[in-house]
Amino acid sequence: MQATKLIVLTGPSGVGKGTLVRSLLQRHPDLQLSVSATTRAPRPGEVHGQDYWFLARAEFKAAIAAGELLEWAEYAGNYYGTPRQMVSEQFAAGKSVLLEIELAGARQVRAQYDAEIVSIFLLPPSLDELERRLRDRGKDSETAIAKRLARAREEVAAQHEFDWQIINDDLETALQQLETAIYGATSCATAD
Ligand code: 5GP
Repeated sequence: MQATKLIVLTGPSGVGKGTLVRSLLQRHPDLQLSVSATTRAPRPGEVHGQDYWFLARAEFKAAIAAGELLEWAEYAGNYYGTPRQMVSEQFAAGKSVLLEIELAGARQVRAQYDAEIVSIFLLPPSLDELERRLRDRGKDSETAIAKRLARAREEVAAQHEFDWQIINDDLETALQQLETAIYGATSCATAD
């Protein structure tokens, strides 16, 4: 039986957090992924309540004022934040929760919790490779890509604030390293 943990996964936009997290959740259904709130417009295929809670700016500000967010940050012109309630409910049910959030939010979470946090920073093989991935996925405008790359440089410079740094080059290798960070070196098998 694993202790309940708050797992904070951070890394530049385009590094492949989404793919890695999907694979991790498939192998570890015990883990709960927090669904964030954002003021960003949905991308094609994104579903409200599943990928994000898509909120108007006024709704997001009201959630901040009401203390409903565990952390929040502005990123590339939009707000993103973690609803407090779901995390508390899952913790109360004895489940570990995974937050996939950017640097400023990760810092806020670490300032609030201590012992039960595992913080992980996911790196691209290089910043050139990150730029290529951002362009290839074709989801963002040139302006948005430029903002995300500028932010990526800042985030990568802060990687050593995290307990673990993992390079996302080969998916399976990165996944195994993520499992080691979360579950320990000896318990990487599927938890079921
Ligand atoms: P995207 O727009 O690509 O979905 O996300 C942009 C950035 O916002 C990513 O780095 C992602 O990790 C981060 N992010 C997503 N949800 C949250 C959140 O709830 N809080 C914070 N601080 N960052 C988030």
